[in-house]
Formats: sequence, structure tokens, C-alpha cells
Amino acid sequence: MGREPHVLVIPYPAQGHVMPLMKLSMKIAEHGVKVTFVNTHFIEAKIIASMPEKADWSHLSLVSIPDGLELEDDRKDGTKTRESILRVMPGHLKNLIEKINQSSDCEQIRCVVADTSVGWALEVAKKMGIPGTAVTPAGPANVALSLHIPKLIEDGVIDSNGTPLSDELISLSKETPGWKVNEFTWSCPNDSKVHKLIFEYASATVQTLRNSNWVLCNSFYELDSSACDLVPKMLTIGPLLASNHSGHLAGNFWPEDSACLSWLDKQAKDSVIYVSFGSIAKLSQQQFDELAVALESIDQPFLWVVRKDLVKLSIPEFPERFTERVGDRGKVVEWAPQEKVLAHSSVACFLSHCGWNSTMEGLSMGIPFLCWPYFADQFHNRSYICDTWKNGLELIPDINGIITRHEIETKVKTLLTDDAVKANALKLKEMARKSLAQAIQQSFH
Ligand code: UDP
Repeated sequence: MGREPHVLVIPYPAQGHVMPLMKLSMKIAEHGVKVTFVNTHFIEAKIIASMPEKADWSHLSLVSIPDGLELEDDRKDGTKTRESILRVMPGHLKNLIEKINQSSDCEQIRCVVADTSVGWALEVAKKMGIPGTAVTPAGPANVALSLHIPKLIEDGVIDSNGTPLSDELISLSKETPGWKVNEFTWSCPNDSKVHKLIFEYASATVQTLRNSNWVLCNSFYELDSSACDLVPKMLTIGPLLASNHSGHLAGNFWPEDSACLSWLDKQAKDSVIYVSFGSIAKLSQQQFDELAVALESIDQPFLWVVRKDLVKLSIPEFPERFTERVGDRGKVVEWAPQEKVLAHSSVACFLSHCGWNSTMEGLSMGIPFLCWPYFADQFHNRSYICDTWKNGLELIPDINGIITRHEIETKVKTLLTDDAVKANALKLKEMARKSLAQAIQQSFH
């Protein structure tokens, strides 16, 4: 009765899921819809601790429910976390919705928007008679692959555990890049637990979409129409970028180090190599050293995001006197305001792990990529960048699996002088801009 309509949004508790769903929530809220954003207690505490003091959350309500784990439990143990989430979170979500819907303070929840990785939330909504919509923080091809799992099993390409039985390149359509069988989203040759876990998540997509009116995706149709057409109910809503007035509110788990923006201001146009591996990827100490030495030897400024947990099993150790030798030519931060960095005119290229959010952000800003995928969909995202859109080059590991300093130096130099890649990157930026402008126009009609 005159109140704003009310939507509940629930992400999977990981940085690359919370951020895009938070951006989506901001867009929904800008249209006068009340949004209740549901985190786990653990994640909400991280977001609040990382928020700048002047942040304004008036657009949406942050609420949290337990994930069933103790504070000291290791949430990087995906299997244990999944088991706990499935056991306790559906009940807590149901109670939360009941409480909101019985309250006289706000409109009842009219729709649940749930990450495809928490498909159970749509099950809860369905049982309560509330319409549900899935949202994927990955690209359309990734959803298409997940929906195709039953057929891959039937055709003998993989067994019922997702293990490849052939070594063919798997194509879902002529225009969509194929998957090498060791580059499926769930392929993880050195870690059978992670393989099993990701395969379970991917396999659940078929059921999740049955409970959903749409599957919203952080992409735009012109970018990948053939993959979009493979997914019934696909609705592209990307590129999801932070709104101007919500610049700080993207749901960071670590405080952004904004000092790098004033450092970027001092660098020449198109000169800086931006290096970031997102929130999960890890390097060996040997690989970290190789990258550090390469960045030191390339005669270009660099901005490098080095999370405290970037190196496997220990905190990252820079080569001796690295910081001293590099001086002001290099800037190292623990967490960057990535969208603002990519939009800065001094940034020349993005050495990236090719997470889908980073892929869409770099693409929207017209930045050429140097691809260094780590796991999950990142290998296939690299195929898009290097083979389909041609807005980047790939870094190729040597026979020992190491990306050498020589490979990094050579590819950076090649990329920075490759006019064709730069032109493609700018073309994609323009496509993204047009698509956003069209979407905004349509939303006012
Ligand atoms: N990001 C950021 N600051 C950083 C590094 C990453 O804000 O220093 C953001 C980035 O903009 C993106 C998200 O973290 O939105 C990472 O998502 P992505 O899908 O690229 O990778 P993931 O972390 O899921 O592997």
C-alpha cells in the first residue's frame, strides 16, 4: 500500500559472488525497490570491517544468517562449508523470510534472487509461494556447460563424477569456444576434492533453473549471443559495474587501498601494468618470485595486488631488496579499488587470473589482458579473451608448469605494442557502453 516493493538477494559466501550481487542489488534499489541482502554472519562481519566510514547503506538492508560453522572453522574447506550451508541455511532463510513477512515495518518479500550456487534458496522460496530468479556470477557459456552435463554423461564424454573419458574438444555451438576436457569448470587434476565439489555445484544448475523464472547473467547479449541462446530463461544484465554514487559499496572483504589511485595519477597515460589474481587464486613462492623479477625487469610502472594469502602455505616473500630496487615505479597493495584502477587512463594492461568479474570489468574499460587462469571457468574465459574476442594474450607455462620471467617480459612487451589487440579491446568497450546505454533507455520506457 504505497510502500516500495521488496526483493531478497542471497549470494554464495565468496568475494566474486557477493560483489556482483551487491552491484545488482544497488541497481534494483535505484529503481525504488527495497532490497534485503542476505550474507552469512561471517561474511557480513568482513564487509562491515572493510567499509569506509562514510559508506552509506541506505539503499539496501544488510542482514545475516549463520552458516553453521564456528568462527574458527576453516571456510576455505569447501566441502565442509557446503555441507554446513546445506544443513542449516535453508531453515534460517525460511525463518528470516517469515519474520520479514510478518513484520508491519515493510512490504512482504515479493521475489527471491539467488546465486546459482545457492539454488536451495529458490527451493525455500518456491515452498513459500514466492517467485525466484537465479543469478550467475559467471558467464553464459559456463551456465550452458553446466546444463549440458547430463548430455556429456550420456555421450560418454565424462563419467557420472565429471571425470573425462575422452580427449575431444567439447563444443556446444559453432561460435562458442570449445572446452578441452581438462579445462571444464570442475577440472582440477591435482585436487579430487575440489573437482568433486565444483562438479556438484555445476550439476545442481539444472534443478536450480527449474525453480527459477530467469537466470540473470553478468554479460550482454551482443558479446556472446550464441552462448546466451543455449540457455533457456537467460537474461543478460551486464556488464555489472558499481554505480557512481555507490563507488565504495561493492561489498569488499578487504579494505580498498585507495592510495594507489593518487599513485596512478602520477603515471604516464597507458603505461601501468595492473596485476591482480582476484580473491582466491594462489601462486607457489617460486612462481611469485618469477613474477616479481619479471615486473622488476620490465621498464614500465606496475600496480600489483598482493593479498596476504596469495602464496600457497605462507605469506608472500618478495625477493631481497625488491621494494628498494623498484622504488616508486612499482606499487603493491593488498586490495585495490579495481574498477577505478581499470578505468584510470594510466593503466595499459591487466595481468589477470580471468575471473568472470575481472573479465567483464577489464573488457568494459577497454583494457587489453594478459591471461593467467588459475581454476574453474577461468581457462574458458581465457579462450574467449585470446581466441574469440582477441582482446588479450595468454601466458604459457613451461614444461614444469611455471610461467617464467622471460615469458612474462616477452608477452607484456608484445601486448603493449599490439595495435590489433588494443583496437579490439576498445571495440568491446564501446559495445559494452552501447549495451548499457540501451538498457538504461529501455528501463525508462
Ligand atoms: N577485486 C577488487 N580489488 C582487488 C582485486 C579484485 O575489488 O584488488 C574485485 C574485482 O573487481 C572483482 C572481484 O574482486 O569484482 C573478483 O572477482 P573475479 O570473478 O574476478 O575473481 P574471483 O575472486 O572470484 O576469483
